[in-house]
Amino acid sequence: MTSTVFTDIDWDKDGKQIGTLNLPHSPDDDAWGVIPFPAASIKNGKGPVVVLTGAVHGDEYEGPIVISELMRNIEAQEVTGQLILLPTFNAPALKAGRRTSPIDQLNLNRVFPGDDYGLPTQQIARYVTDHLFSKANFYIDLHAGGRSLFIQPSAHVVMAEGMPAELIQANARLAEAFGVGITVQTSNMGDYRTSAGYVTFKGIPMLAAEMGMGGWATADSVRATREATHRVLKHTGVLPNIETCPGEKTQWTRIHGTEAYVFAPMDGYFERHFALGDEIQKGQVAGLMHHLNRPNLEPEAVYFQSSGTLYAHGLIGQVRAGQNLAVLVEKVESPI
Ligand SMILES: [Zn+2]
Repeated sequence: MTSTVFTDIDWDKDGKQIGTLNLPHSPDDDAWGVIPFPAASIKNGKGPVVVLTGAVHGDEYEGPIVISELMRNIEAQEVTGQLILLPTFNAPALKAGRRTSPIDQLNLNRVFPGDDYGLPTQQIARYVTDHLFSKANFYIDLHAGGRSLFIQPSAHVVMAEGMPAELIQANARLAEAFGVGITVQTSNMGDYRTSAGYVTFKGIPMLAAEMGMGGWATADSVRATREATHRVLKHTGVLPNIETCPGEKTQWTRIHGTEAYVFAPMDGYFERHFALGDEIQKGQVAGLMHHLNRPNLEPEAVYFQSSGTLYAHGLIGQVRAGQNLAVLVEKVESPI
């Protein structure tokens, strides 16, 4: 416990506390300043401890909007156990409207379990690892596609070989309760660097969600995020009486191998020949790569390497070699 992060919140105290995690930071124009990360603890006796995070990436807005609402609206008497809210887990990135932190260029979702002696993004990850994930019974992490990605609204749960059966079942029940059209099984059990991967390693049931896209928020995407978040919080038992509306029956899917991804084979300008939700056959043309700075060259076709449903795609027309153009999912049986 060597973190320099300090907070005005007492995580062990009953009641509603809204405050900040303060990470000491000494940049060129501020010798003894801090980076403030808004946070709340709403605690009422014994019961499940749920950690809910948003803006792990700073260009994804539905999560921070809905978690901020919970901070304003939920009172301690509505809670059984403890609701720990971090609406802007990567606050510097949110302030900049960027996926990664402008302070140290790090992607918060690639630094877990963090490092007390590291860069600011690593330090805040470590504080949450040691002080908040250490008490969690459930972890819910709200994402969206951000500025660079269109993606189908979906839940993500970690399910991998070697995981305890109870943990797989608990994750599956979270996804069913979340109740959005698609759930993607991911297998990043061995990757500690995402918050979801880290909590999975620690045996904590988790759900991550992709609930918007494009780096904007709409009334529909916020409403869908709010409704699904309320359903899953009710399921955990932390908000037993919150009003909810029925969710959708989710279709279980997985991203099967590297052939589910289409990457740009060269630098160029991509003409996309597909849309979200399309059913794709292996060998189908994904689009054309144009060489607009060498107009004498014919465009070159890019092909899908496997069959599946079009789950996500990049948004940027000018692409570099290796940039992701599309991701397919394939349907699988429900694990429960
Ligand atoms: Zn994200």
